[in-house]
Amino acid sequence: MRTAEPLWHPSPNFGPRRDGLRPELIVLHYTAMESAGDALQRLCDPQFEVSAHYLIRADGGLVQLVAEDMRAWHAGAGEWAGRGDINSRSIGIELDNRGTHPFSEPQMRKLEALLPQIMQRWNIPPEGVIGHSDMAPGRKWDPGPRFDWARLSRGGLARAVTAAPVATGLRSDQFRQLARARGFTADVDDTTLLQAVRLRYRPWGRGGLCAADLQVLAE
Ligand SMILES: [Zn+2]
Repeated sequence: MRTAEPLWHPSPNFGPRRDGLRPELIVLHYTAMESAGDALQRLCDPQFEVSAHYLIRADGGLVQLVAEDMRAWHAGAGEWAGRGDINSRSIGIELDNRGTHPFSEPQMRKLEALLPQIMQRWNIPPEGVIGHSDMAPGRKWDPGPRFDWARLSRGGLARAVTAAPVATGLRSDQFRQLARARGFTADVDDTTLLQAVRLRYRPWGRGGLCAADLQVLAE
């Protein structure tokens, strides 16, 4: 039986990937809009010059806007693991969510079905699945503190977190070194870096740097 998904809703906002680059990352976003319809309109409006490869609606419906081999315009300025032009290196997935509430179960299930397909097609490891805030710390906050990274991690769809004990004097340079090794290479101050790491791994974390902030980054 043929599946009707993904439903195509083509966006004009894309171009060729630059310098022969191929997808090596998958960047997750929330739309921060009132509805999937509003988001689709925005992602297809030439005036706004934004797009993504996929949008997953809150009801679990999957919409494709840009072909995977093309360069969609979702990531913008930023850096991951010392590499720029994230748009040329990634597949972008927008999750229909205002950013203020949990992600729905049908939406998470659809994401968990889509990710392994993309990872297999482009040979992307779990470490290659990142959030917009990971590569644009201080500028972007999505997919935000409500997103269940631990669930993806347990399913092998994001970096496994071992929370290994680290010998530490809680020095910020040691934290930065560990964060860099995990991919957080964007040039930001200590506070912004701590915010970005916590958004990804410890969204409940408050106050100054603590041992747990280093542990989630350890091998
Ligand atoms: Zn985003």
